[in-house]
Amino acid sequence: ATPTAIMVGTGLGAQRGVLFKNAIGLEASARIQVVVMDKTGTLTKGEPEVTDVVTADGMAEGELLRLVAAVERESEHPLAEAIVRYADGQGVDGVRAEGFENVPGHGAIAEVDGHRVVVGNRRLAEREEIDLGELAQHRKELATTGRTVVIAAVDGHATGLIGIADAPRETSAQAVAELHALGVEVVMLTGDNQATANRIAEQLGIDTVIAEVLPGDKAAKVAELQAGGRKVAMVGDGVNDAPALAQADLGIAIGAGTDVAIETADLVLMRSDPLDVPTALRIGRGTLRKMR
Ligand code: ADP
Ligand code: MG
Repeated sequence: ATPTAIMVGTGLGAQRGVLFKNAIGLEASARIQVVVMDKTGTLTKGEPEVTDVVTADGMAEGELLRLVAAVERESEHPLAEAIVRYADGQGVDGVRAEGFENVPGHGAIAEVDGHRVVVGNRRLAEREEIDLGELAQHRKELATTGRTVVIAAVDGHATGLIGIADAPRETSAQAVAELHALGVEVVMLTGDNQATANRIAEQLGIDTVIAEVLPGDKAAKVAELQAGGRKVAMVGDGVNDAPALAQADLGIAIGAGTDVAIETADLVLMRSDPLDVPTALRIGRGTLRKMR
């Protein structure tokens, strides 16, 4: 692109809070064929809230929350924060956990009152050989309503489920529709459960979902989508999105996201509005047209 076209494109973007950090990003945005979007914090508000607590194995709800919150107090995961906030609201007492172990993409494990408490997703439950029993059906039902489901087990026995909702951003569905109108394929990429992700994708009109992806595997998924020379943009907010943002032809960070994501991206959406993704692609296309 000519320096003038780049200046104009960058300036247009800046007016709308779409900050291109380099000329390469602006040129790449004109050629994007696929937009990959992280779910939590990008398509959704990233404000998870506990909506359901289900217990089993004779466990009282307060006791379940006490044990789970003790583990999650040691974690920095947004789901952990939601659980702790809810437990505090229910007035459970703050017992300390020991020997905390964070299992990325899975959950967390610690000792509470001499009990081994495992808190996380189905993959973690499988790894720990925990049989969900009567909770299996509840888990499936909660997931199909779009809830993220956290499984709790005490000393190897499944004792409860915590359903967590994270509402889509108001403009996510429209952003997807506008990207489709631009002839761009939209893909959701998430570490969350397949059924949960499918439900939210359905609400937003997204037809391709890549779920249950481990934090370290997001970049490889982007690379797979780039096969055959397809130009892929990745939109994300989290620390675990950074390698995928770097791998993409155009890395786009949500302005409200983590510093690592913002530093790695070619483009930052200052308003944290998914609608600014199609805006950025239109600015890129307009800039490229003026070059010719
Ligand atoms: P995402 O792409 O959804 O932000 P992560 O890789 O951070 O994903 O986590 C993937 C999944 O692992 C979560 O959806 C959740 O089921 C589980 N998980 C991770 N950390 C925790 C935790 N501290 N407590 C409960 N579940 C967790
Ligand atoms: Mg995220």
